[in-house]
Amino acid sequence: MDEQLRLGDNDALVAVKRAWDKALALMEPEVNRPSFESFVKTAHPVAADDGACTIGAQSELGKVFLEKYYHILKPALENCVGKELDITIVVAPKQPAKARAVAVQEAKRASNTVTSFSQPFNDKYTFATFVVGSCNRMAHAAAKAVAENPGTAYNPFFLYGGPGLGKTHLLQAIGQHAMFKHPNLRVAYVSGESFTSHYVTAIREQRSEDFRQKYRNIDLWLLDDIQFLTGKERTKEEFFHTFNALQQMNKQIVLCSDRSPRDLAPAEERLKTRFESGLVADLAPPDIETRVAILQRKAKAEHADIPMPVLECVADLIPTNVRALEGALVTLMAYSSLMKANMCEELAKEVLGRYLAEKKYSEVTPEAIIRAVSHGFSVSVDDIIGAKRDKELALVRHIAMFLARQITECPLQKIGKAFGGKNHASVLHAVNRVESLLLEDAELRAKVDELSQGIRSGRLP
Ligand code: ADP
Ligand code: MG
Repeated sequence: MDEQLRLGDNDALVAVKRAWDKALALMEPEVNRPSFESFVKTAHPVAADDGACTIGAQSELGKVFLEKYYHILKPALENCVGKELDITIVVAPKQPAKARAVAVQEAKRASNTVTSFSQPFNDKYTFATFVVGSCNRMAHAAAKAVAENPGTAYNPFFLYGGPGLGKTHLLQAIGQHAMFKHPNLRVAYVSGESFTSHYVTAIREQRSEDFRQKYRNIDLWLLDDIQFLTGKERTKEEFFHTFNALQQMNKQIVLCSDRSPRDLAPAEERLKTRFESGLVADLAPPDIETRVAILQRKAKAEHADIPMPVLECVADLIPTNVRALEGALVTLMAYSSLMKANMCEELAKEVLGRYLAEKKYSEVTPEAIIRAVSHGFSVSVDDIIGAKRDKELALVRHIAMFLARQITECPLQKIGKAFGGKNHASVLHAVNRVESLLLEDAELRAKVDELSQGIRSGRLP
């Protein structure tokens, strides 16, 4: 078995698929029958390479179930493969033959126009599945206009908002709708991180001309999470030139970020001006009606029949972040299905009350991060939140601010307050600076990653 797994991707997948069939027999007695039939038997290996594999669940509920039974799944599969495996579980429904044929056709059509370096689209992120409310009406309308007529109105289109509010969803909806409307449009969907790594690789392999050629040859450029671009000066410079070249040719550019152009660092003045020359729209946290509508859509997509009062109760308990909202609903459905409990408001309060309490308990505050960084760098808390400006101390302070922003998702102002009343611009400056440093300094990156993982997993001093 071991040998088969070392033969390369496809052979590894074949081996894991074979092992999966055997592992099913090992898992069967460990799981109750209905759950085994609906969640375990319907799952299947979708990718594998040496020492790692991905198991696709039929639905999100299936994924929650498999994650819950990971302690049974992992040894069963490892036993059949004959080695340790790093197993990831994703949602990857098997498609019926007809749907698969249509998908292949569509993919073929799309592959004419999706550029080779584009990241793939998630077919769930379309306008049809995006729920419109007062929090996102303007962003949605502008996105639709851009997708209908790329390169004419609103160029660039700059979309910003907090985590989990639908930026990536809308960006991909624009791409997929535009390709449908304009079959010959060349589309590239790239994250700020990928753009950076494409560029760094091109430089290293002395193929920067190639790189330029590729990026100048796009009709619709969708760039996600541009905050990850605030790194190497040369990448930013290249971004700037690409941006200008495309704009001059009236090619459509759409950008997403976690902050508004106004909140870019002062050093980014020329980007700020460029971004503000088009249309800027924000995504706000959804109001209660929109949250209920999102839950209704989600329940329908999961073929779950959930009474309205229960949906209202979930929407009421989770006030921001659509990703968390969807997660809460999936948790509730999993619980009700596993415990065979009636889906009612009391159940929602009980399950989510516990879920929220757990979250609260594990919720990390900027203060806790300051303590962890103080411990990690052997610098006192008072020095971190104080005003001393020596170089090393300032770096530690900036790292703590950076981690606070990354981990807590607190507003900049609130973070500044925890750092002895610094203003929001200082925190932003710190975040930008550390983002740049991390790209250049592998040693620092390793140290910050270690700290970050420690904090996220609750290993706080
Ligand atoms: P962001 O990129 O802003 O962090 P995402 O686009 O990844 O957020 O959205 C997080 C999740 O919430 C996704 O599953 C997305 O489909 C869903 N979502 C966000 N906003 C909406 C909406 N208005 N309607 C339907 N689903 C939404
Ligand atoms: Mg996103």
